[in-house]
Amino acid sequence: MPTRSRSIVTALLLLLTAAFSFDTVPVDWAMVARIREEGLQHSRVMDFESYMTDVLGARLTMSRDMQRGQAWLQAELTRIGLVNVAAEPYMDYGVTWDNEYVALHLLEPDYTPMVAYPIAYTPGTDGRKVAPAVVVDLQVREDLDRYRGTLRGKAVLVTPPVAIDLAALTNGAPRRTDAELRAIETTVIAPARPAPPRAVPRPNLLTAAEKLAFYKAEGVAVVLQCEGGWIGAVRGFGRPGAREDGWSRAGMLASPPVVAVTPEHYNRMVRILGRGIPVTVEVEVRTRIGDRVERAANIVGEIPGTDLADEVVMLGGHFDTWHASPNASDNTSGVAVALEAMRILKAVGARPRRTIRVALWSGEEQGLFGSRAYVREHFGDPRDTTVGAKPAYERLSAYFNQDYGAGQFRGIYLQGNEAARALLTAWMEPFRDFGMTVVSNQSVGSTDHVAFDEVGLPGFQFLQDRIPGTGGHTNLDFYDTIQAEDLMKNAVVMASYVWHAASADARMPRKTRR
Ligand SMILES: [Zn+2]
Repeated sequence: MPTRSRSIVTALLLLLTAAFSFDTVPVDWAMVARIREEGLQHSRVMDFESYMTDVLGARLTMSRDMQRGQAWLQAELTRIGLVNVAAEPYMDYGVTWDNEYVALHLLEPDYTPMVAYPIAYTPGTDGRKVAPAVVVDLQVREDLDRYRGTLRGKAVLVTPPVAIDLAALTNGAPRRTDAELRAIETTVIAPARPAPPRAVPRPNLLTAAEKLAFYKAEGVAVVLQCEGGWIGAVRGFGRPGAREDGWSRAGMLASPPVVAVTPEHYNRMVRILGRGIPVTVEVEVRTRIGDRVERAANIVGEIPGTDLADEVVMLGGHFDTWHASPNASDNTSGVAVALEAMRILKAVGARPRRTIRVALWSGEEQGLFGSRAYVREHFGDPRDTTVGAKPAYERLSAYFNQDYGAGQFRGIYLQGNEAARALLTAWMEPFRDFGMTVVSNQSVGSTDHVAFDEVGLPGFQFLQDRIPGTGGHTNLDFYDTIQAEDLMKNAVVMASYVWHAASADARMPRKTRR
């Protein structure tokens, strides 16, 4: 072949390669190398994870625990070398609630200590109580008469016995298989959720809040319940009605003490009572309830940008947790990854074009309150004409979040933003050896990137592996279940994505239509 024809063919091939690959999206391999070296050979991610889980512990939004945790968090962001570190208060959230002591014992017919935690935003028992236990099946208004006048001083068991999930106990949680990952990637239309059944008004049915009010009026010693089927695990959230009464002191004091018990202990009491044999328990709960409404806060910090400093790339996760454990996975792991990503960027001397801002939210577990308040305050909401889009709305490039447990990133969800596919795919290329390969068109929910996505801003959540042993939202979510290598890799990926978004020529493209 003549030289001239050969060069034409070469030129054509080059053109084709450019058109059909992501070569047009630059990958900063030199920076990736520095980030990988810092994050994989000098990682501090498990040091962050340990401090938060072991020393700080649980961090319920609107608790003294959380306020102590946020003071540490601000100091830590400053130690990492970030600027503009601040607590940004939002909304009058409610009064603080902290559990300071809980003890539940089976006294009769056989002594055993039981594993139990109070439900958040419920009061203490006002001292140590010895109480006969009784099963209560309260569902409709007519049931009230049946129980009225019979429950004073009793420990009432209000939920039916639960089936224990032995498969989860013996099999654990397997990591995602290749086939499963492929399915997530190739499913372009997420399966439609079945429509909820037609809501038939059932005025006779008692709400959870009405049942609590009845138990309080009847003077029960304590309400005992069990709503999860994992051995050894207590699933306990917030008091029904707490959100409606604005986490108020009056609402907390108007409730009886409510204590969640592990299934094996709860079921044992139910079975003994079923034999007609009396059960006596000893219970004591001490809680500290604030006496004034306070504002909740998000914590932020920045690496300032250079030539595009007024544009922003954000990363983060929620710092608040439920209260029965340090919640090592949900979401201490996401916070550890965000802190480590910022530390890595500082350690490698990154001078990004756009400002990189980390945000550690509160109020997520009660309903994305922190991130939604932040987005509204800083970026506005084009859907809401009373707020509109603020100037900063056009200056945010993207937000990256971790909150699907502590498993390794195996990909990223586009959140329906096809325009972002080329960038997010190209930036994944340096992490093929981590097994990070999936770019899914699907939209996922339930955490803080939603606050951005729902107002038309690019907000992304990574696709994460399952890992065994973690029990998010239970008393069993501990440091020891966290896999160091997963978090190290996540921090490296997070730092690299944020770096590339902050260095790109253009802002992250947005969905064209909502
Ligand atoms: Zn979470």
